[in-house]
Amino acid sequence: MNLFKGNCICGAVKYQLNSEPRLSFLCQCRQCQRITGTGHSAEFVALGKDTLVSGELKFYELTSDNGNTLSSGFCPTCGNPVLKKSSGYPGMLFFHAATLKDPGVFKPQQVFWGASHQPWDYVNPDLEVKEQA
Ligand SMILES: [Zn+2]
Ligand SMILES: [Zn+2]
Repeated sequence: MNLFKGNCICGAVKYQLNSEPRLSFLCQCRQCQRITGTGHSAEFVALGKDTLVSGELKFYELTSDNGNTLSSGFCPTCGNPVLKKSSGYPGMLFFHAATLKDPGVFKPQQVFWGASHQPWDYVNPDLEVKEQA
């Protein structure tokens, strides 16, 4: 059974992966800081075609620190950010790990955008940090 399934706070948006995530990571870029309201996002990546998403997501477009167009998908009812798309990674969905039914299955492998790390934000020091994405 695949443990990578989750939902927004109100439950209107649900998703399920049909494969293991391609990558799990933390991102300290400014956009992730704004979207999550804290020092970094916690995300896992899957191909859209390996994923089932049900319910309506609303997308807000912003420009990433390396110039890609990011679409931040959130539930219009409860406002919970659930996933993102990036013009730099067509066909991929970037899910926010805390929306998982069991967030304990999330195992970050790497930290991106250490260049915009905030001095009050602490992550596992064993993880490799990349200055950018
Ligand atoms: Zn919701
Ligand atoms: Zn980011």
